[in-house]
Amino acid sequence: MANSFCYNISMEPRPILRFQLDIEYDQWTCREFLTFKEGDIFSASILKDHPALISCEKMESEKRNEFITSYVEKYSEEHKQELASTLEQAKNGWLKVEDAFFKETDKVFSKNPKEETIYIYDWPKGKYLCYLSIFNCNPRFIKEKEFQAYYKHPLGINFVCIHEMLHFIFYDYLEKNFSEQYKTLGKRNLWKLSEIFNDVILRIDEFISLTKQKDPSIYAQSREELVIYQRMWEEAKENIDTFIKNYLNKIYYDI
Ligand SMILES: [Zn+2]
Repeated sequence: MANSFCYNISMEPRPILRFQLDIEYDQWTCREFLTFKEGDIFSASILKDHPALISCEKMESEKRNEFITSYVEKYSEEHKQELASTLEQAKNGWLKVEDAFFKETDKVFSKNPKEETIYIYDWPKGKYLCYLSIFNCNPRFIKEKEFQAYYKHPLGINFVCIHEMLHFIFYDYLEKNFSEQYKTLGKRNLWKLSEIFNDVILRIDEFISLTKQKDPSIYAQSREELVIYQRMWEEAKENIDTFIKNYLNKIYYDI
């Protein structure tokens, strides 16, 4: 079967990512992330973009929730045009990159990326929804396959989409191919692995040409740590299984 694509007809087709606005979701995000706690970067980012929300800091929780509810409603109404046009741009922006994104992602998740036969990875089922948000918190729900993207995200909405889509497929891949480790690794370690994987993959030329971000922010603690994982990817000859095994060996060894 050299020089061909192997499709399995029983598999899920590539998911269709849809885009929506949802005021109630944004009200939830604000209630959830606006903690006013020192050092809470999400809370700080909400206040930076929406300084008027500072006035609910001293309110008791019911009053604060009411304040947030009406603030989000009002802000969304006042920025209706801008939000609607950003939504259109987000949809069109994704349409321009989705084919290339799925193609490159197939290469990463196939077990022999350098060979000519590419096995198309079966994407997990889910809603695949991107909600544009007026807050720069960008939460995601791995199980449901939905996430928010800040409508003025400095790295662009396509970057957020590609980043989150990689999380969705990566979690599924780990669960199916490293099921023991998936069960025992723990939420934090799983999350770190998933973010480190993104740090590395989003720096591959093919992904940079999709996101237009040469050097996006990193989850790794330092540049040195990032380089270790980039080298690990190279040494694994871009084979995802080898990369994951080497990563797990390293962290278990380090512990
Ligand atoms: Zn992430």
